[in-house]
Amino acid sequence: MNDMTNQPRHSRYLIIGGGMTADAAARGIRELDADGAIRLLAAEPDAPYARPPLSKSLWKGEPLASIWRATDELPGVTLELGRRATRLDPGEHRVVDDQGTVYTYEKLLLATGGAPRRLPFGDDEVIYFRTLADYRRLHELATPGRRIAVLGGGFIGSEVAAALAMQGCRVVMLFPEEGPGARVFPPALTRHLVTYYREHGIEVHPGEKVAGIARQGTTSEVTTDSGQRFTVDAVVAGLGIIPDVALAIGAGLRVDDGIVVDEHLRTTNPDIWAAGDVARFAPAGRAGRGVRVEHEDNALSQGRAAGRAMAGDPAPYTHVPFFYSDLFDLGYEAVGTLDARAPVVADWKEEFREGVVYYLAGERVQGVLLWNVWGQVDAARELLAAPGPFTAESLRGRLPAS
Ligand SMILES: Cc1cc2nc3c(=O)[nH]c(=O)nc-3n(C[C@H](O)[C@H](O)[C@H](O)COP(=O)(O)OP(=O)(O)OC[C@H]3O[C@@H](n4cnc5c(N)ncnc54)[C@H](O)[C@@H]3O)c2cc1C
Repeated sequence: MNDMTNQPRHSRYLIIGGGMTADAAARGIRELDADGAIRLLAAEPDAPYARPPLSKSLWKGEPLASIWRATDELPGVTLELGRRATRLDPGEHRVVDDQGTVYTYEKLLLATGGAPRRLPFGDDEVIYFRTLADYRRLHELATPGRRIAVLGGGFIGSEVAAALAMQGCRVVMLFPEEGPGARVFPPALTRHLVTYYREHGIEVHPGEKVAGIARQGTTSEVTTDSGQRFTVDAVVAGLGIIPDVALAIGAGLRVDDGIVVDEHLRTTNPDIWAAGDVARFAPAGRAGRGVRVEHEDNALSQGRAAGRAMAGDPAPYTHVPFFYSDLFDLGYEAVGTLDARAPVVADWKEEFREGVVYYLAGERVQGVLLWNVWGQVDAARELLAAPGPFTAESLRGRLPAS
């Protein structure tokens, strides 16, 4: 109807993006505004879903139906799926999508997340693991006995490698660092994870940078800088994401590796907010560049808070997000900044199996890793807020393992 009359599609709230942040924002709006029309403009063909199960529970038999967020069951929400916003004109409160459809809004949220970092070779040979479509493609390829290369030793690479091994695939893991999670875990823990992954049947190659990928009939050949060659049935990569800031740049918003937002998650335009993986949270008066967090709890809490802010909530955003991951039978939760280069106090109940690692910044605690330790996230948050001074002696035993 609108297309035929060329009338813009108007809504009080327009959300660009169809991820977990977008869903949480719609819910946040509805907490304060019962009937203002909400529209989600989302590039993926699928309605909002939870991403973490794509590398975890779906491989352990959890049904696909468990991931849906049911955003469309909220009253007054319209989903525009499979449409990418290509232009944002803040002066006119106007957005145009890749099909030429025009949308107008009173308040706009940018929840565009990030796109996987890609290699300059390999093209479609490589599954850059991020979306439900990527999960479907990999799951189909991952039959027992298949040999699959996993590129990257960060969160996604580590989880996908474990998931594929549990599926009975022969996994070859390649990454330039010393071990899985090398950017966040203390070096001793990272080195232990190399052994642990090998014990679970994974061929782990630390210190290997991929230099080329070529198709050879039904297989792919992966070559590394050091001259090693691996013939595999499929290649999957988790090399990090690049925040999707194109619309924000085009609209003249402030961008600094992410869309810069203040304590109310508002961008440099008063009618535009940003949240989730794409947002750099930089409250006024705080030193430094602020933080951009690529984790679920941040997506959910920032999304909700941005939705509430758009609907008039004057409260500033103060939540300290946590994150988590599962690696075979190990699991962890973490709060704050985990920087492998920081000095740490490691308080193991059983070395590398169960314990707490405290990351220090001077005499304060800047991050806490709860390794197979549960129910301590709030206590860890309190520790981050405490002025200290903390020492190894005062930290040991502070957050006890269960
Ligand atoms: C496989 C996987 C496992 C994960 N596991 C964990 C975990 O265990 N623990 C944890 O804390 N976090 C985990 N995460 C991270 C967490 O899922 C993300 O932080 C979160 O999903 C980010 O949500 P988002 O909505 O901000 O961004 P995204 O999920 O990136 O969503 C943004 C959406 O916007 C769309 N979009 C972008 N630009 C446009 C445009 N111009 N027009 C329309 N649509 C657009 C994109 O297509 C995308 O669908 C995992 C992520 C992945 C991929």
